[in-house]
Amino acid sequence: MIHPDFDCELSEEERAVRDMVHRFAEEVMRPIGRRLDRLSAEEVIAPGSELWDVHRKWDELGIRSLAADPSAIPPEQLARMTCIIGEELGWGDAGLAVSLGAGDFPSMMAQVSQKPELIAAFPPGMLGCWAITEPDHGGDITEYVKPDAFTRLGKPNCVAKREGDFYVIRGQKAAWVSNGPVARAAALYTSLDDGGNGPDGFGVLLVDLSLAGVTHGKPLEKLGQRSLPQGEVFFDEVRVPLSHLVIAAADYPVGADLTLCMANSNMGAVFVGCARASYEMALEYARQRVQGGTPIINHQAIKLKLFEMFRKIEAARSLNRRVWLYNAKYNSFFGAQPGYLPGLHYAIASKVTSTQTAYEVATEALQVFGGNGLSYEYPVEKQLRDARASLIEDGTTEVLSLFAAERL
Ligand SMILES: Cc1cc2nc3c(=O)[nH]c(=O)nc-3n(C[C@H](O)[C@H](O)[C@H](O)COP(=O)(O)OP(=O)(O)OC[C@H]3O[C@@H](n4cnc5c(N)ncnc54)[C@H](O)[C@@H]3O)c2cc1C
Repeated sequence: MIHPDFDCELSEEERAVRDMVHRFAEEVMRPIGRRLDRLSAEEVIAPGSELWDVHRKWDELGIRSLAADPSAIPPEQLARMTCIIGEELGWGDAGLAVSLGAGDFPSMMAQVSQKPELIAAFPPGMLGCWAITEPDHGGDITEYVKPDAFTRLGKPNCVAKREGDFYVIRGQKAAWVSNGPVARAAALYTSLDDGGNGPDGFGVLLVDLSLAGVTHGKPLEKLGQRSLPQGEVFFDEVRVPLSHLVIAAADYPVGADLTLCMANSNMGAVFVGCARASYEMALEYARQRVQGGTPIINHQAIKLKLFEMFRKIEAARSLNRRVWLYNAKYNSFFGAQPGYLPGLHYAIASKVTSTQTAYEVATEALQVFGGNGLSYEYPVEKQLRDARASLIEDGTTEVLSLFAAERL
């Protein structure tokens, strides 16, 4: 681990949590992530796959309950813990880190709703997903906070229509939903039709995916983060009680900001960890590989690369920690005073900075490895593929940046 004592503001307890999660990342996630990377997408989700060991061992660590009950510890401490944990998980394996994080989405939203029946129905450990992206609405799904979205963007692919005491869901979410093929619950961000002549708002429903009418798509084969199962979720007349609406249309603009703030800050932490992993691999290799009669770390061109990696990672990490702490004060997800808006443009700045850093650091790390960097025998080519996916994941760099720019 690089310069851990630079984190001089961490308490003993926080250091202990960091070290525990680091051990999990090193002993469980890193080796399993590499093996899952070499399997087909179907094999990754098969019964008996090591993916399930990762989720089971993560449950056993007891960290999930921290995120599920934000009121249990002071907001600023929770924020510090969350970014430390995210970083260590991203260091272990980016795809698995996202699977674990997305898995908690429904239980977290149940907690936010403060409805006891939802808290009981969607407990931590019930593998979940965040289902928002649609086949025809990728980059523009964030536009549904704007009043003219329904006339401007065309037909939504998924609509929940209010019929009596139920919302009846028809349609589908995109193949990119993390955990989509295996999730048991969804935080469904969807168009709502409150009984009129078509969709007239956007909101969030908690959906038990064992309900009649739900089907899952095949897991997607893809370039990077192959340990993360992704696929569609289809809804054919799925009936969900009205009480499962956790963010109504009127509250959606603030709810969407809070969600994006949380998701972007989390990605900011995970991809600091991913970048750090690539840097450490390059540093270790540069100390061992001898060329020109000396370990390559003694060549100035390699030294400069390593320092650039180190500098970018520390900058991305500092921004991420600052954003988490700011939002601990102002983001009501963390129990802060209501009425304050979260700093979404800061959270997006963190996600964009961390993912760009992870990609640039992995590219340079591969260069340090020379020909070996391209080989499946070494771990660094996987780092590059995993980091590349992050520039699209949860919103492309371009679309998120434009969205944030509107807040300046
Ligand atoms: C690893 C990974 C994990 C993901 N996890 C989830 C998840 O858990 N849940 C979920 O619902 N979704 C998830 N997604 C989906 C992700 O959020 C979308 O892929 C992303 O928002 C882009 O949408 P799209 O793929 O449809 O691309 P498009 O929206 O079709 O974009 C194509 C290109 O056009 C550009 N573009 C689009 N609109 C604009 C614009 N207005 N201005 C400028 N440029 C524009 C984009 O930047 C991009 O380069 C995940 C994706 C990945 C890769």
